[in-house]
Amino acid sequence: MLGRRYYYNILSLSALCFATTLLTFNVFTAWHQKVVLHEQQQKKELFYNVSLQDDWCIQARILTHIKIPELKNTYQLLDECEISEYAVYRSIYIFYENWKHHFGDSTGKVRETIDNVLIQWGDKRRTVAGAYDINGKFIQQASVTGLALSPSHVWVKRGEKGIGTSSLIHELVHITLWNLYGSADPTHEGGEDNIWTDKHTQFIKETNNLLFLIGDNNLADPNYSMDILRAVMESTLRNGKEREK
Ligand SMILES: [Zn+2]
Repeated sequence: MLGRRYYYNILSLSALCFATTLLTFNVFTAWHQKVVLHEQQQKKELFYNVSLQDDWCIQARILTHIKIPELKNTYQLLDECEISEYAVYRSIYIFYENWKHHFGDSTGKVRETIDNVLIQWGDKRRTVAGAYDINGKFIQQASVTGLALSPSHVWVKRGEKGIGTSSLIHELVHITLWNLYGSADPTHEGGEDNIWTDKHTQFIKETNNLLFLIGDNNLADPNYSMDILRAVMESTLRNGKEREK
C-alpha cells in the first residue's frame, strides 16, 4: 500500500510541468521553418524530425544509459535520438552557474542535485491526468513536455531546436526545489506555498535563452572551449542584467 501511495504522491507532485515548456514550445513552433516527417521502418510508427537537426539526431539509441561527464552520478537515458552527453553536461553547468548567481548554493545541495540526476529523454509529449500551469491553474488531461518524477529523475521531451528549447532546465528547477525544500512545487507560481516564485520562472527563461543562443552544436563541441562558454555566459547574462537596470 505504501508503495502505491508513494507512487501516486510522486505522480501528483511531479507530473506537473507545463506552462513554461508549452510557451517555449509555441514560441519555437512559430519559428519553425521546415518539419520533415520520417517513417521509422523498424518501429512502424511515425515521429517528427526537424531538418535543422538531421546531423544532430542521427539514429535512435533505444534505452541507453549514458554517463554525463564531470558529474558524479548523473546519467541520461535515451529512447529515441542521440543527444550529446557533453552538451547535456555543459547545459547543466550553465544551469548551475546561473543558479548560484541568482539563488546561491551555500549548503551544496544544488551541486549534489546536479551530480545525481537520471535524465530520461523522449520525443513525444505525454498526457497526464492533471497538471498545473505556471500560475497554478489546474489542467485536466494535460499534454506535457517534461516531468519531475523523483528528486533525482526527470523525463524531458527533446527540444526541437536544442536543449534550450527542451524542458530540461524547467525540470531541473523542480528537482532542485524538491531537494532543497522537500517539494517540487508543481503549482509553480500558484498555490499557497512560495517555493517557486517568478524569479525561478525568469531564471528558466534566461538560462534557456542562453542555451538556445549558444546552440547544441557548440555545446557539444570541445573546440568551443569552456573559456568561450564562460565568456559568452558572463557577457550575455550579466550585460543583460546591466541593461535591465
Ligand atoms: Zn513545472
